Amino acid sequence: MDTLIANVTAVTMNERMDVLFGAYLGITDGKITYMGKEAPKEQPATIIDGTGMVAIPGLVNCHTHLCTAALRTVLDDASRRDALEQQLRREDRMDRRSAKAAALLSIAECLRFGITSVSDLSYYPDATAEAAAESGIKANLALSAYRYIHDSEDFDFETDEQCREVCRVTEKWHGHDDNRLRIDAGIYAEYISNYPLWEGLADYAREKGLGFQLHLAQTKEEAQDCMDRTGLGPAELLDCHRVFDLPVTAAGCAGLSPEEQQLLGKRKASAVVTPVANAKAGLPVAPITELVKAGMNVALGTDGCVEAGNLDLFEVMRFAALTARQSAGDPAAMPSSALLMMATVCGARAQQRWDECGMLKEGMDADVVLVDFSAPHLMPCHNVTNALVFSAKGGDVAMTMVRGKILYQNGRFPTIDLNSVVAELMEYAIPRLLQEKE
Ligand SMILES: [Zn+2]
Repeated sequence: MDTLIANVTAVTMNERMDVLFGAYLGITDGKITYMGKEAPKEQPATIIDGTGMVAIPGLVNCHTHLCTAALRTVLDDASRRDALEQQLRREDRMDRRSAKAAALLSIAECLRFGITSVSDLSYYPDATAEAAAESGIKANLALSAYRYIHDSEDFDFETDEQCREVCRVTEKWHGHDDNRLRIDAGIYAEYISNYPLWEGLADYAREKGLGFQLHLAQTKEEAQDCMDRTGLGPAELLDCHRVFDLPVTAAGCAGLSPEEQQLLGKRKASAVVTPVANAKAGLPVAPITELVKAGMNVALGTDGCVEAGNLDLFEVMRFAALTARQSAGDPAAMPSSALLMMATVCGARAQQRWDECGMLKEGMDADVVLVDFSAPHLMPCHNVTNALVFSAKGGDVAMTMVRGKILYQNGRFPTIDLNSVVAELMEYAIPRLLQEKE
């Protein structure tokens, strides 16, 4: 046994939703090999004292844009249209080097807040993959393809620049480090692309066993606009072009019609709810209860630093619960255990990682987070699940471990040189992105 976390409160998220007090969690070769209330007979190489700590499965952030961290706080008070226009203009100046530095900063933030696996949609999947590979985090990375192909154009998947990049990144990174990195196909959204691209990417994803990421129906107006143009809602339209035959992770979903919710429930699609980013942009939050009732797998996402301000998935859990309860007018409408489930088990399912993470259970990867429950805002603790959702914050995380390797502990990031990442951002990336003239 390599590591033993001793005398910890373990919120397992297993099928019985067991919470074990004074538990022992043993780790060997990156896997959880012992869970119990008695100390194991086998001697561990290292012991971590879990007194006063709560162990949870690593959180899964199912929608973000890691590369945009360099633009945090620049556009916070702009109108939606100004913010989007300025963001696109600045992102245009991004290059591989600045994307990687920003991705490393975002990954450090994820680890700081107990996120062990992340789904990312970006224009620089090769750079984000390199950052994720170095850092030790798990990641599902997709290129945010966005081409609208006119009838007069010849579209060839083999020669299209974005599609070639998807193939190149898939060959290079899909399955890297025993599946720690996965590549997904992806589009930014329905309204800036069309069917030749969707079908090309969907066919390629099916052939290679990839998932598919996109923004979908973020508002009712977006869905109505699609209906006016095509006679179908965005989910119905994409379904006609084979996209939902794949394991899809759809961020947004606030504007889906009830029929589309049912359709995506049948297709086993995952809805990624991003309530903090939605509210920050003055947009409605997806109706979580309806999506769950329709049969969709509902997971949680922060969205990017620009959209949300931070990558704290604890805040997302809390805010998702608050908005769902507020819209139902009933505190019983959304139990805290459901939120914790969305942030762990459902996230792992959305990433096609259901058999490797999302629970603290023997045989699973040791993706373990320790939350320090000694702070005043976490005492007294009569119900640990409620405390995790309604009282805890990302900053309460004391240790984040992926596959048994500590990636964050007490202010230190063993795999990320944060000082050089910040220097690279300040000296190279930010001047490049914020310059006003070409
Ligand atoms: Zn997004």
